[in-house]
Amino acid sequence: MHSKKGGGGQKYKPVYFVGAGPGDPELLTIKARRLLDEAHVIVYTGSLVPKTLLHGCRARLFNSAGMHLDQVMEILIKGYRQGLKVVRLHTGDPSLYSAIAEQISLLEKEFIPYQVVPGITSGLAACASLGVELTIPEKVQTVIISRISGRTPVPEKESLEKLSKIQGSLILYLSISHIEKVTKQLSKGYPLDTPVAVVEKASWPEEKIVLGTISNIAQKVKKTGIKKTAVIIVGEALLGIDNPKSTCSRLYCKEFSHGYRKGNTQDTKLIKAFSASPSAKTDLTLIVYLGSKGHILAEQISQKLNGPSRLIRYSELKEDQSLQKMWEQISAIIFVCACQIAVRTIAPFIKDKYTDPAVVAVDESGKNVVCLLSGHLGGGNKLAKNVADILKARPVITTQSDIMELAPIDLWTKAHNLLPTDSRKLKHVQALLRNGDTIKVFIQDHVILKALPEGLVRTKSEDCADIVIGPFIPGPNSNSLHLATRNLCLGTGCHKGLAPDRLFEKMKNFLEKHSIPELSIEKVCTIDKKAKEPAIVELAKYLEATLLTFSSEELNNVTGPETSKVVLDSVGAKAVAEPAAMLCCRDGKLIVKKEKFDCCTFSIAATRVEITDRY
Ligand code: SAH
Repeated sequence: MHSKKGGGGQKYKPVYFVGAGPGDPELLTIKARRLLDEAHVIVYTGSLVPKTLLHGCRARLFNSAGMHLDQVMEILIKGYRQGLKVVRLHTGDPSLYSAIAEQISLLEKEFIPYQVVPGITSGLAACASLGVELTIPEKVQTVIISRISGRTPVPEKESLEKLSKIQGSLILYLSISHIEKVTKQLSKGYPLDTPVAVVEKASWPEEKIVLGTISNIAQKVKKTGIKKTAVIIVGEALLGIDNPKSTCSRLYCKEFSHGYRKGNTQDTKLIKAFSASPSAKTDLTLIVYLGSKGHILAEQISQKLNGPSRLIRYSELKEDQSLQKMWEQISAIIFVCACQIAVRTIAPFIKDKYTDPAVVAVDESGKNVVCLLSGHLGGGNKLAKNVADILKARPVITTQSDIMELAPIDLWTKAHNLLPTDSRKLKHVQALLRNGDTIKVFIQDHVILKALPEGLVRTKSEDCADIVIGPFIPGPNSNSLHLATRNLCLGTGCHKGLAPDRLFEKMKNFLEKHSIPELSIEKVCTIDKKAKEPAIVELAKYLEATLLTFSSEELNNVTGPETSKVVLDSVGAKAVAEPAAMLCCRDGKLIVKKEKFDCCTFSIAATRVEITDRY
């Protein structure tokens, strides 16, 4: 905060230039809130500062939107000379595009003291809404704040064309009305598929987010009609960390060209969910409608539904075949049309209940809401009930365990991240439940059992169990449903440049020998020098496991593992696979000691997992 001396004595208070933040009253600083509450005179930028920030203020309020500089200065100076507390309230942070410099200069001429109180700038509030970091290690470390030249010219040396050559993370203010010109200039430096996000009214209840690329964002923004109070964020950082572009480019492809997403904190998960892995789903609900009556119902559902949703006309969905592309990415689809149409539309894409989205159909009179697909795991039953609540309609649920009110085993397994190594056996267990038979559950080592859902009891014999829970494949005598716990860490090291296929092959043999399914591996860990070793990176991806790396000092500090001079000479650590696996598991222990192959080593540690009756 800057304070400038000058002017009268105790009686006179400085003029305060206060940052109002992006709009959400909770994003005001405590100091800003206090000054607003204490002020006698507030001159605020009415075009951008929401009125809600001024609720309860006792001050005389002046909206500067229609004033010129002299009029603003007259109020500030007069208030100061009367010994009043005067606040000049600017949106976001006063140091950016707020024209405080000229006001300060005029105050200084009058020897009037002032103070500047910072605020959260809208560009950074927009990043918070998107849930992104602008500085991704090794990808981008520079953030540029700028604007396109409009009525206020931008010096040629800072033109967007020039700035775009840096390919940093770019935040553009005051530029949305020139979006076409912006993208044209950006394309001179950034690749055309560089992601772009437009955030209108960041942090306001009516916040809107439009995502695209340099090549298509202008068209999308035009469709939404956003013309002002928006920032444009550009750069690869929008894709997050560890994400090869190919995985994420779906986020920006044309199926997302229809409309915009409503502001919602859950929206921010969209980017992350896409970035997480190729199979990760976003929590986006697609609402498909036919005709104008259907459109009205779809709007009604979208407004009240928790989480982000996107409306799309049935004909558009068919036209650009977007459903095929989106099927595995979205979490739910609501059809506002006859079940028959919905069923025919989704039929070609249905795969299994683990990956299919929830599908619900609402008739065009809004009377019945039928769950068509993924009732349990996909949340379709719940969605049908929600939509029925919104429309005051009748939910139609036909999955058996809900009807019979039995513990839905698949929900319970999902809640505990238990993964069936052979999902065909789930049916057998559910049939037992329906018949009222008790299900016998065997619990393997490294699993702590707190409670089981009703109808399930613990057994001491793995061979006669109906369900086996733990990280190991049950023995050959067992015909049970194996639910793998995801609690193992695979420590590994390999020769430089080893082909990924060879490492996969060795790992498969190693896991098979120890009766460990790939599903049980939650983390792959190694020394930091191997963090980019293609075979190890690919292995972690293949297992959908987190890759963790440790420095040689960290590895050398682990006591116990067998050491190797060869390893020490080549990477500077006494051992890699064993200590890395041990470091990965906080409360765990080594369960498979290091095994050496000609080109790699493996070791496994396990963490303990808890099972309860929660679902
Ligand atoms: N000092 C302000 C910027 C004022 S210039 C700040 O730090 O945020 C006005 C521009 O700010 C607008 O054209 C728009 O680009 C941006 N802006 C202001 N409030 C915004 C908001 N809530 N969401 C998105 N952009 C906003």
